[in-house]
Amino acid sequence: MLYAKLAEIVASGRISHAWLLTGRPEQTLEQAVQLAKALLCHQPGADGQACGHCASCRKLAAGNHPDVQLILPRGASVKIDQTRSMQYTANLESYEGGRRVVIIHQAHTMPPAAANSLLKILEEPKDGLFFILTAPLGDSLLETILSRVVWLRLPDDLPAEGDDVYFTALLPELAKEQELRAAMQEKCRRLLDLLAGSDNGAALLVLAKSFRDDKLSGSVKHSMAVFLEELLAALRQQAAGAILQAGGEKADLSYGGRLIFSAQGALSAALLVEEAIRDIDANVNGVLTLSVLFLRIYDLKLK
Ligand SMILES: [Zn+2]
Repeated sequence: MLYAKLAEIVASGRISHAWLLTGRPEQTLEQAVQLAKALLCHQPGADGQACGHCASCRKLAAGNHPDVQLILPRGASVKIDQTRSMQYTANLESYEGGRRVVIIHQAHTMPPAAANSLLKILEEPKDGLFFILTAPLGDSLLETILSRVVWLRLPDDLPAEGDDVYFTALLPELAKEQELRAAMQEKCRRLLDLLAGSDNGAALLVLAKSFRDDKLSGSVKHSMAVFLEELLAALRQQAAGAILQAGGEKADLSYGGRLIFSAQGALSAALLVEEAIRDIDANVNGVLTLSVLFLRIYDLKLK
């Protein structure tokens, strides 16, 4: 069920094109989906609640409504390429010829560039296009964004409704992302294996090329970004591990637990990875970027 205060606003017909729901993450997300459902329902009740059985309600409950775009933080934050795809969506016509809804969950994690591109869209509202942002606290968002949304704090004791909208709407996307991350962790492990050995230059290039055929996420660029995030985490762990080991302590390392780098080497490698992340985000040839990166990292490892 949609929170009564929200349902009242929907029923009144004075519907803002941009909303901010603050409160606990699961709750704000559930209510964001419920609000989208009410906004898109073909036969909403006089109380502002979605009917639950029209074509639109059913598609939303199944997580495949073509006019709803759900943006979830990827890793720790919403990424710029996600808001770019939102910008693209904002310019499309609705599939169903009616309203469209973009939900940005945990909008406070958007980097400044992403927040600014959202701001541009909010400054020129489009007919039938609605934005629902969620965050733990309102003041974690840009002042300029706050001034353009209707902000509603959800009460802490809002009962969980036990209908499955929240999960069914999210599961396909979450499952896909988890599957991709697991595959990229596997590639990361493979890379560290190759780095640990000697004379693996050719195998490193084969690994770089293997990304070209990676269709898991539908976007090679996204796969690479997730992979590089994982690699960055592994390298930071290597640096910390090397420092611990130098002090005579035991290093806790994932990916086989070996130290492949000195602290200095791991940090230099991490800088190269950050550079590669920026290049790939800027649409530089990804396979080439990874090939060069792998070989440069290979040169940095403990001899
Ligand atoms: Zn309905």
